[in-house]
Amino acid sequence: MSVENVMKIIKDNDAKFVSMRFTDTRGMVQHLGWPVSNFSEELFEEDIMFDGSSIAGWQPINESDMAMRLDPHSAVIDPFAQETTVIIRCSIYNPIKGDGIADTAYFGPEPEFFVFDGVRWASGMDSVFYEINSYEGAWNSAQDFDEGPNLGHRPGVKGGYFPVPPIDSMSDLRAAMCQAMMDMGVTVEKHHHEVGTAGQAEIGIKYNTLVRMADQTQSYKYCVKNVAAAHGMTATFMPKPLVGDNGSGMHTHQSLFKDGKSLFVGDMHCGLSQEALYYIGGIFKHARALNAFTNPSTNSYKRLVPGFEAPVLLQYSSFNRSASCRIPFSPEAGRRVEVRFPDPLANPYLAYSAMLLAGLDGIKNKFDPGLPTELDLYELSSADEKAIPHVAASLAEALAALDSDRDFLKAGNVFTDNTIDSYIDLLTEDVKAMQLVTHPLEFEMYYSG
Ligand code: GLN
Ligand code: MG
Ligand code: MG
Ligand code: MG
Repeated sequence: MSVENVMKIIKDNDAKFVSMRFTDTRGMVQHLGWPVSNFSEELFEEDIMFDGSSIAGWQPINESDMAMRLDPHSAVIDPFAQETTVIIRCSIYNPIKGDGIADTAYFGPEPEFFVFDGVRWASGMDSVFYEINSYEGAWNSAQDFDEGPNLGHRPGVKGGYFPVPPIDSMSDLRAAMCQAMMDMGVTVEKHHHEVGTAGQAEIGIKYNTLVRMADQTQSYKYCVKNVAAAHGMTATFMPKPLVGDNGSGMHTHQSLFKDGKSLFVGDMHCGLSQEALYYIGGIFKHARALNAFTNPSTNSYKRLVPGFEAPVLLQYSSFNRSASCRIPFSPEAGRRVEVRFPDPLANPYLAYSAMLLAGLDGIKNKFDPGLPTELDLYELSSADEKAIPHVAASLAEALAALDSDRDFLKAGNVFTDNTIDSYIDLLTEDVKAMQLVTHPLEFEMYYSG
């Protein structure tokens, strides 16, 4: 969209505010409200300055001025604002330009989320712990989701995928989320209940180029959370809110194009080209460092365990969902790699860029991902399992891997040693916070020991 078009949208809709949005290191969207009376075309040519010192993981106070540039392509009417508001995102970088291997990278994420009753969440830490840390919690939340006691109309544990209503009591809610997303320019392909018992859902959206898709990922979350809130509920993208049930992933489909042609189509394993296999090789080679971006919370590693459709081992396969990389069956133009370890707490700009840089590094250095596997990787003997490389087992492990495996990230125009160090420092705060807290389970294991 051109600047002229943005100005026309503002005028035609009689918009009163512009919401200038950017994403912080942890992936949270921040915004500045800007009255239209103070907004002009010239702003698209200017650095818009703000104080970055209070944004976690950004500038220290002595060099706190930050600049952002409006990206006219992202302009869209905010479906949730009372005063008509146009959202314009601020662009930071474009990592693929100048690389030479490809000219376009397509990304297609599948963020999953849970919806819980909002009232309980407000009732204090103790009940939050109780609710989300037991099977019973799952059932309580499911009961709360609809009023009334009709437990017969509840999906059982792992039974959410995907009966029609009334068992699926979220259908109308998801439809409202989809409508809001479409209003914000996201192309919605489908919505469905996910496997998780208590209100887990997924909305399928159409792939796009890296930065556009990261913008749309943020619109996705904004719509999911605001529609849930409008219904008196909360939506969470936390990767593993319920013990013993599926977690929420953000599988990320990826492909490279040059001069309008896919670089991933070929006659090697799973219908892939040599480049696509090397791309997977790069993802696997750097997977543990990538985890710091794709799985950026202490909770993320409670999802990456066997038995819940989340991957643990670095293997690829055409249909096996226990592998870290799946090659979905598709016609040639849609041939792509689905990386399954990311989760939706990832900052999409950083996670997509890091995965792209890992894949490109794989192509440059010809990293071989080995043969595809069609085994159920959850069923391997422990000796076989040990022989296969794993994703990181904890956030601390992922941050240590990133610290020692960072050179591949510096090839693009996105990461510097400084940004990587600040990122590690910021997330180390979470690791330390968890280390200091006595966990409820420790009372069960050690109190009377
Ligand atoms: N929820 C699963 C995960 O954590 C994925 C389930 C699915 O989409 N098949 O990755
Ligand atoms: Mg899906
Ligand atoms: Mg899914
Ligand atoms: Mg998937």
